[in-house]
Amino acid sequence: MMKPTYRALLILLICLLPIGKAAAQSGIRLVSSEASYLYDDHLSISAQFESQSRLIEGQAFIASDAGGPAEMIELELDSSQRVEIQLRIEGADRFPAFSHIQYWFLLTNADGDLFESEKQSIYYEDNRHDWQTLSQGAYSVRWYAGEAEFGAAILAAAQHGAERLAALLPLEPPSQLDFMVYPTADQLRDVLDLAGYDWIAGHTDPDLGWAMLAIGPDAAQSLEIERQVPHEVAHHMLIENLGAERAAALPLWLSEGLASNTEAYSDPDRQQLLQLNHAAGTLIPLSQLCRAFPQDGDRARLAYAQAADFLAYLHETAGDAGFRALFENYVSNPDCENGSQSVFAQSLSELDAAWQQARFVPHTVTLEDHVAALPWDAIGYSALFAFLIFVFFGGLGGRGKEPR
Ligand SMILES: [Zn+2]
Repeated sequence: MMKPTYRALLILLICLLPIGKAAAQSGIRLVSSEASYLYDDHLSISAQFESQSRLIEGQAFIASDAGGPAEMIELELDSSQRVEIQLRIEGADRFPAFSHIQYWFLLTNADGDLFESEKQSIYYEDNRHDWQTLSQGAYSVRWYAGEAEFGAAILAAAQHGAERLAALLPLEPPSQLDFMVYPTADQLRDVLDLAGYDWIAGHTDPDLGWAMLAIGPDAAQSLEIERQVPHEVAHHMLIENLGAERAAALPLWLSEGLASNTEAYSDPDRQQLLQLNHAAGTLIPLSQLCRAFPQDGDRARLAYAQAADFLAYLHETAGDAGFRALFENYVSNPDCENGSQSVFAQSLSELDAAWQQARFVPHTVTLEDHVAALPWDAIGYSALFAFLIFVFFGGLGGRGKEPR
């Protein structure tokens, strides 16, 4: 086994060799090569060479275009001048999913000719399943659990999502968007992990090249199509229209709020969730939703609910033109707290307060409030008891005068 540092040095030396010259003068030639794999299992490479004299030494190098060092394999050579390589691939350590695996050869023959082949490349993706595919216009979808209607429903939801966001903001629909749908969140999590990406419920990443979804094929999941697909379309449109860097610079409450408002079906308990958290004083300050959302499931759900409703409030308040101006302002100046000033003349924190005041029923005065508000030091328990009776009967009919 070659030590890593020595291996790295050898690779560096190989890179420094004048490849074109060596290949042109070499009596060795690569006739053909091919690679195949089973995802997260093995990689097979075969190559046929032609050499004017016996091949005496050779190495194959295998690397991912996602980065990391090349792996070197000593070749077993015989008079057939053909090589076969079998490599176990398990986990994401060596080859992240949805990247290209590159391989090339370095050979020496008995005449002393040195030959380095061109780099060959194979796209490494999840080929363990019998994928069905469907495409229409700019959209394509791959799935393996579910009938043809399932794929068609994904494409329709994508189309409608793009229309909804385009009605809100002057953004072009996707030029190309490919969905890969796993039937369960666990399976998607595994594959994103193998691809070297953090687990997120859905995932749109320009580097990945796919919008990844976890939606089961049964009818009960059809609402999930209406929720997840438009949401990912919105993220994709922001990235494609603004560029990945500017899209990533937007405050998260804005981009997630937009994506949530693009959904055709959303969290049915959103309003109740907001009301309860408002009443309990546990809403998250929007200024804390600029760069990150909570990791914890319940708080994350609340963050999405707040972003969605806050965005809807801003749109209602500012109107179409004002909302567009606000968006453009945040694109050119992603200052989370003050990006709203030019349109609303209010900071984010001030808008947060205005949103809460406009949206939530004022905290109704309850028996507990009255009790809590009592001057305990100044009254005796008998007075308290009489007071409670009074509040109880007064409040019950809704006619009694509230004590002050
Ligand atoms: Zn999102």
